[in-house]
Amino acid sequence: MVHDRRTRIVATVGPASREPGMLAALVEAGVNVFRLNLSHGTQEQHLEVINRIRQLGHQTRKHIAILGDLCGPKIRVGLFPGGSVVLKAGAEIVVTTRDVPGSDLVVPSQYANLHQDVRPDARILLDDGLLELRVLRVEGSEVHCRVIHGGTLGDKKGMNLPGSNLSTAALTSKDKEDADFLLKQGVDLLALSFVRRPGDIVDLRKVIDAAGRSTPIIAKIEKPEAIESLDGILEAADGVMVARGDLGVEMPLEMVPIIQADIIEKARAKSKPVIVATQMLESMVSQPRPTRAEASDVSTAVFAGADAVMLSAETARGQYPIDTVRTMDRICRKVEAWQSLETGFRQPAARGDIADRMHAVSLRRAIGRSTAQLSQDLRVRAIMVRSKGGTSAAIISSTRPSAPIVALTTDERVARRMSLLWGVIPRVITQEEFDRPKATARHHALALGLVEPGQHLLLLSGLGKLEPSLTVLPL
Ligand code: PGA
Ligand code: MN
Repeated sequence: MVHDRRTRIVATVGPASREPGMLAALVEAGVNVFRLNLSHGTQEQHLEVINRIRQLGHQTRKHIAILGDLCGPKIRVGLFPGGSVVLKAGAEIVVTTRDVPGSDLVVPSQYANLHQDVRPDARILLDDGLLELRVLRVEGSEVHCRVIHGGTLGDKKGMNLPGSNLSTAALTSKDKEDADFLLKQGVDLLALSFVRRPGDIVDLRKVIDAAGRSTPIIAKIEKPEAIESLDGILEAADGVMVARGDLGVEMPLEMVPIIQADIIEKARAKSKPVIVATQMLESMVSQPRPTRAEASDVSTAVFAGADAVMLSAETARGQYPIDTVRTMDRICRKVEAWQSLETGFRQPAARGDIADRMHAVSLRRAIGRSTAQLSQDLRVRAIMVRSKGGTSAAIISSTRPSAPIVALTTDERVARRMSLLWGVIPRVITQEEFDRPKATARHHALALGLVEPGQHLLLLSGLGKLEPSLTVLPL
């Protein structure tokens, strides 16, 4: 338990992983959070998976979180009679918003506003940017294009319009229906795709409020507009995902590593969890071992201080889901072991973390940082945090202390949410225990095997109410 992995692993569920035995094996291999991708599958299928994961949580007594990922205004092409067509470079074709079967000359788009949102010369990218079209002219619902990069285009492949402003809202009517369904099932976290403005988060928050829930929202950063409004989005959301798949299509590819580093730093400065996603161990979709570059990519996210790393196709439809999770687990542990010996987990203070001459850092940040420093100076074995809603745990986690963080909460749902937070070990306690924090902290630290008599614990409480108290507890 002392050597619990700090970085969390998110795995996407799909045809390769939705059977009960496989879900159990993935938890055993190290998955902390399962992602349901609402771009695929029916609500019935998702319901079945939700029930299976809940059952697994009961059986293993682990706080396994479910992240429901809403597709947002993801644009896709329609269907082709033979399942796919070949678009030839140089050909003139039509992209239409009419619901017709496609061909090598006519590509149906499911996005009804397409003809209004693109202008001549705009780029239309297909299938993760593998194919490229350039708009020649728009005639009614017909968008005439030149094929710049041709290739095979399959049913329902993604379509991106980099540089065009989408008129549609981030929260589509399908998203609202999906959100209602997911909230009714009590999923632990909701992600929203293609967020552009803080208002997109506010719209989803209204749906969550109306359902009487307090489900945290993860904003997926995959549009240039979101990069421009990053501060506001970080403020409005409860966490973010560096969604590198679409980001690398919507923006120049060479920007992705820089944006990743920037988002991680800014999210941590605001004590919001950050997930790095997509293609992390992509070759393991069809190979039992990853490339060295991929191993290095996972390590880069850990070094940079991401809360979580995510698997998509690798676990959703890959041939080696269990091996992929094990590989990710091993890479994370190796980097963390090295960090803990050589540098510690703490990075140089993030920009938002530094008090300048005019402004103090917030009380929460200050207490969080002091706790991390104290835990290091005193070589305490655990930081025990009383956290009702999870905020205090997130604040301590974002300072990346060396000692494990044990978050004591009375609410099983909050415990599950906290499974996304770097280094946090959630423990559900009774209200009685909550009211006797010192005895409870000692008891749980001992039960987890984190401390021995003669060592010290730190106990933090009241941070949520801004009445913090930090206690050094000898055992
Ligand atoms: P997706 O999001 O897998 O839902 O597209 C992640 C990404 O774009 O990287
Ligand atoms: Mn995406």
